[in-house]
Amino acid sequence: MIDSTTIKEVLISEEQLQQRVKELAKQISDDYKGEEVVLVCVLKGAVMFFADLARYVEGDVSLDFISCSSYGSSTVSSGVVRIMKDLDKPVEGKHVVVVEDIVDTGNTLHYLLENLKSRNAKSVRLVALLNKPDRRTAEVKVDYQGFEIPDYFVVGYGLDFAEKYRNLPFVGILNEKVYQDKV
Ligand code: 5GP
Repeated sequence: MIDSTTIKEVLISEEQLQQRVKELAKQISDDYKGEEVVLVCVLKGAVMFFADLARYVEGDVSLDFISCSSYGSSTVSSGVVRIMKDLDKPVEGKHVVVVEDIVDTGNTLHYLLENLKSRNAKSVRLVALLNKPDRRTAEVKVDYQGFEIPDYFVVGYGLDFAEKYRNLPFVGILNEKVYQDKV
């Protein structure tokens, strides 16, 4: 199913992902030693990263899930964000670490981080697996970053195109032909 007509190139291998995720988990564990922390998964793109990261973060950890939609075409986001599924529990007085797949324009995260801060969390930080700084239009502080990548549309390890490719164990560059045919 996966060949060069769909995935142009493997950008980050399964081994690289797994190693970096463990390093990030160690950093987070050290920074929140002795503190309670809520890891917030931004559905659905962060789901693989979140599941791998969460199992290596040590300490007093709880998990929650939020889902946002950013309007726009399938490969370019607009600036309008809406919460489709909110957290199950209030985060007031808690340390929150938002776990996101990728920061691109920054619009989604800018909105989401401000929204969570307004709920009087004790602190709100962001861990993003991928960072595409070239396309940033909204200011977002990435506290923990997996990999900085150039401006490619990538899929795999949770990231999709039209709901496909999330199950790939690596991050790959999608062949433009796949979305040129559909956008
Ligand atoms: P932003 O608001 O920072 O522009 O991006 C928000 C969302 O757009 C990300 O959470 C992700 O779901 C999607 N996105 C941005 N860049 C990519 C990409 O290269 N590949 C995929 N699959 N999704 C992306």
